[in-house]
Amino acid sequence: MDAIVNNTHITDAEWEVMRVVWANDRVTSKKVISVLKEKMDWTQSTIKTILGRLVEKGILNTDQEGRKFIYTANIEEKEAVRDYTEDIFNRICNKKVGNVIGDIIEDHVLSFDDIDRLEKILEKKKSFAVEEVDCNCPEGQCECHLHHH
Ligand SMILES: [Zn+2]
Repeated sequence: MDAIVNNTHITDAEWEVMRVVWANDRVTSKKVISVLKEKMDWTQSTIKTILGRLVEKGILNTDQEGRKFIYTANIEEKEAVRDYTEDIFNRICNKKVGNVIGDIIEDHVLSFDDIDRLEKILEKKKSFAVEEVDCNCPEGQCECHLHHH
């Protein structure tokens, strides 16, 4: 997985296609079409366009095997999801991150294993916790600066 990825931004439509690739490791356009045709109500040519765009961005690799093209991912799912969540947290003040994480936990069903893992993470986090999280926003993009005046 050391290929050069030109543009890691994955659009909503591309994400649908990537899920099929991640779930199956190696796919043909036929496979992607069979999975997404109904779910997304896309035509064959729409799906082929999206596959082509993902190859262009370097997110997908393509190899010809006989008359078929085989697509494989250049980015692991875990990595892509991480980039995506980073993107969300880059949009808010650092001070609000803890609250948002709390909301996310509250809004989702978790297994006992998930909760065990979260408890371990939090226990470790306690040794590095700070009195107050620093705001990193330019003045005027969050409320933090208002309280200092
Ligand atoms: Zn701030």
